[in-house]
This record gives sequence, C-alpha cells and structure tokens, in this order.
Amino acid sequence: MPFVSAKEMLIKASKEKYAVGAFNITSIVQLEAILEAATEMKAPVIIQTSVTPAKFLQPEVIVAVCSVLAQSADIPVCLHLDHCTEVSFCKKCADLGFTNIMFDGSRLNYEENIKLTREVSDYCHQKGDITVEGELGTVAGVEDQIKVTEDEAQLCNPDIAVDFVKRSGIDLFGPAIGTAHGVYKTENPVIDTERLFKIHKKLNYPEIQTPLVIHGGTGLKEEVVRELVKNGGAKYNVSTNLKHILIDSIYEYISTHPDEYDPVRIDSHMKKATKERIKYWIDLLGSNGMAK
Ligand SMILES: [Zn+2]
Repeated sequence: MPFVSAKEMLIKASKEKYAVGAFNITSIVQLEAILEAATEMKAPVIIQTSVTPAKFLQPEVIVAVCSVLAQSADIPVCLHLDHCTEVSFCKKCADLGFTNIMFDGSRLNYEENIKLTREVSDYCHQKGDITVEGELGTVAGVEDQIKVTEDEAQLCNPDIAVDFVKRSGIDLFGPAIGTAHGVYKTENPVIDTERLFKIHKKLNYPEIQTPLVIHGGTGLKEEVVRELVKNGGAKYNVSTNLKHILIDSIYEYISTHPDEYDPVRIDSHMKKATKERIKYWIDLLGSNGMAK
C-alpha cells in the first residue's frame, strides 16, 4: 500500500495500547529486511534514517526504494527523517516524499526550539499529509552528529510540554524521560515512566491528539519497554541495536568464511539476522497483527 500518515497510525496504536517500531536504517538491505519482517508479522512499521545516513544514501534514493517496497507490502509504512537539526534539510526531505519529519531543536533555547519547529510544522502541513515530530528536554547519548552528555540531559516538564506542543504545531512528541541514545552505561538506567504517563494524560485525555515517541529504545529491559508502551509510548525508536546486528552479523560471517568472496551471501546473512531482530521487537511492542 502507499505510505500512510504516522499520526493516524500512532493514534490507533496509542488507543489500542501497543507501539509501532520505528527502525533506523543505514543500508538498503536493512530496509528490505525490516519491511519483510513487518509484512510477515502483519505489523505497521516506520522506517527512519538520521541525517548522516540519509545524506549518504541520498534522500531521493531512500524515498524511491522505500515507496516501491511499501507499495507491494500489505502493511502501513511511514518514512521518517530522524533528529534533523537543519530546517532546510527537513523541508527538502518533505519535498522529496518523506511522510514524517523530526526537527530536533532540543539543544536550542525554548523559544528558539518552538520557532524553528513551528516553521517545519507549518511547511509540512501546507504540503499535505506530512507529520512532524518535536523533542523537548534532551536525551543523553549520541544520535548522528548530536552528542548530549548525561549531565546535560534534562527531563521534560509535563506542563511545559503542553505549551510546547500547542505552540510548535507538532503532531508527535518525544519527551525526554531518562532514556539515552547509544548503549546504556548502567545496567538499570532510571527511566521516568511516571513522567511519561503524566505527559500522556495532559496531552491525550480524553482524546489521543499527540502520540508520544520513545527515543533511545535499545538496551532497556523487556519489562521497562512494556511499561513505556503501557504509559503512552506509541512510537518506539530502535537504532543502536540494528547497527550492532548489522556489524556483528557481517563480522561473524566473514570470520567464519575467510576464503569466500560472495557479497550476496554476506548480505543474506545480515538480512536474516536483522529480520529476526525486527520480529523480536514487533512482538515485544505488541504490534504483531495490528496492520489493519
Ligand atoms: Zn532519538
């Protein structure tokens, strides 16, 4: 089917208390693996790229490949630009056919974040059914070129969240609640699920209006993931885990087949490992069978 709007997909998820996996890609084979796994699981899915891989693969190419594959897949698919700090690149990707754009102004001061996020929201909404994600507070770790130390990370204040969402015009909201990009440094990171629920109540009761996004989804315990979904997380981002699967599976294949020079076999091995991992996430997030 053609691409669909993330907002509609995520309002359904939020109402029915599951989350849609939003998987970051750095290669086309990975993209194919994600769509095949989601199709086999009959799960709605979001494909996303951060800015560096989007520029490397070229946004035109990502849109072309993803839309051809989505057309033949029998599940709802969105294409999302993740953590973009440049207004002009947000607009470019919206022009080229991305269905969702995240403007990341979380490092800016509050008013500047609102102003630039609003510029992206207005542009995307005028173009049509393109949804916009914004972030408030800062998620620790490194995502693409944006590095935030744990001391700099600030959790999102629920009252300010309401003002931010209203004034920035965003459709999806990623509040900082203690999750981190990359690999967690402690075994039991403190994740403020209560804060997430407070924000969810303020924004989405009695009616779901602004579905919530969980950043830094790699490396949390399964019960924490379920708790986040239960407390309002509707879009669940997984990036680091897929990078590890890609590199580890390729490394494993090459080290066990040192005399073989067949790139298709290496890619097939990586694709199989990625598919298995995507199925794990879909199952954990509860989106299995939800592509209706
Ligand atoms: Zn993120």
